Amino acid sequence: MMKYVSTRGQAPAVTASQAILNGISPDGGLYVPEKWPEISLDWSVLKTQTYSDLATLIFDAFFDDFSVSEIDYIIKKAYGKQWETDNVVSFHEENDLTYIELFHGPTLAFKDVALQALPHLMTTAAKKQAMSDKIVILTATSGDTGTAAMSGFGDVSQTEIIVFYPEEGVSEIQRQQMQTETADNAHVIAITGNFDDAQKAVKTLLADESLAKDLKAEGLRFSSANSINIGRLVPQIVYYIYAYAQLIKDEKIKAGDEINIVVPTGNFGNVLAAYYASQIGLPVKQFIVASNENNVLTDFFTTGKYDSNRHFKVTNAPAMDILVSSNLERLLYFASGQNSDEIQAYMTALQEDGAYVIKPDTRANLNKFVAAFATQDQVSETIKKIANATNYTIDPHTAVGRYAYEQTAVTGPTLIAATASPYKFSETVLQALNMAPVSGQAALAQLSKMTGTEIPIQIATLFNKPIRHKQVIDSKQILATLKHEIF
Ligand SMILES: *Cc1c(COP(=O)(O)O)cnc(C)c1O
Repeated sequence: MMKYVSTRGQAPAVTASQAILNGISPDGGLYVPEKWPEISLDWSVLKTQTYSDLATLIFDAFFDDFSVSEIDYIIKKAYGKQWETDNVVSFHEENDLTYIELFHGPTLAFKDVALQALPHLMTTAAKKQAMSDKIVILTATSGDTGTAAMSGFGDVSQTEIIVFYPEEGVSEIQRQQMQTETADNAHVIAITGNFDDAQKAVKTLLADESLAKDLKAEGLRFSSANSINIGRLVPQIVYYIYAYAQLIKDEKIKAGDEINIVVPTGNFGNVLAAYYASQIGLPVKQFIVASNENNVLTDFFTTGKYDSNRHFKVTNAPAMDILVSSNLERLLYFASGQNSDEIQAYMTALQEDGAYVIKPDTRANLNKFVAAFATQDQVSETIKKIANATNYTIDPHTAVGRYAYEQTAVTGPTLIAATASPYKFSETVLQALNMAPVSGQAALAQLSKMTGTEIPIQIATLFNKPIRHKQVIDSKQILATLKHEIF
């Protein structure tokens, strides 16, 4: 049986289902596999398989305390008709570069891939652990996590989903998606201020012991839909394996050839999944970590110093506006040779001083990682350049990756994660293409006309839907509001 241990080494090892239910380890660390599962990746077979086949292979290996029929049930629920595409993802070629479009799910961003699976992983795990409490998912979102989490958890029995988003700093599409959510178990509340304010308020709730007691008395317990949950990470390994198999099938590469992987990065979940894929046998030459102007990671990979003491910037790629990338801790754990004392020291320094410097030996193990960042102007220029040169329209997050790809000048076959639909950020994309400013439904129509593509069915009628969630609160009211919503 696989064991999941804490990166900080101060909590007991647990099974996959316990790790999924706990979210974060009790010592504040993140759950990581004690050993990599043994999977034989026979590419001549894998290249003929469907996305769901590969998802089954990976889920079976990492979540090995789930039965075969439980995994089948979860995969069927997660990767069914809610996807525009038969095989979840699709591809677009630009010479040596292959975009893997991860945004054909219900909310048009890559987070759907994991968040369509997580609720079923959690409720199945709860059954296995004979846990009868109702799971309350509490999340602060800069946009994409909230909508994707509600789409996944919406109307899933034994769960409630509560989303706090900043009144300022989400795109118009994202706001409309949240305010029109129809699931009975979804609660959506705007907080005055920016994402940092919303995030801080939610963290206070999660750390409130007397609140946890009140919840327990009501048969409720908090959990996390954030990418610190191992149940969000593992589903993301699948598409890197699937993409590699498809590159072989399309004769772009031969089995065993190394590829580069470019990932627009925020909390470091998506690029970490690519690293996990490499640890179970995906041949990777370089990982390209792409950031926006909140370029903590670019500096980290260039200097070995992680320094979050800087001004938080709200950018045109808002899902990557973040100064503390939680999942980096998981990479450092492996780079340090699974040295939890070393990780504990870094995380203490981060807590106390907002910064830490990693040891040379640990840094040497990160030699496959390169990093670069794009300013907001460079994002706009990249969107325009790619549209003009290749007639392909990318969203601002993917544009950050595309710019970093050029900057780092990696060579050979390269995969780039296209993390959101351009429609989700229509206003920014139109602006980059020098169009007169329009918003809402008009922006969708304009982008459709410009690009000769259909408005994705998921949002085609978004602006006709009734607004159901109008509440705006001050962060001081968050505890009272939460209690009112769930008790
Ligand atoms: C969340 C998000 C990212 C960042 O992904 P991480 O896993 O947090 O690094 C990038 N692009 C989009 C569109 C996102 O929604």
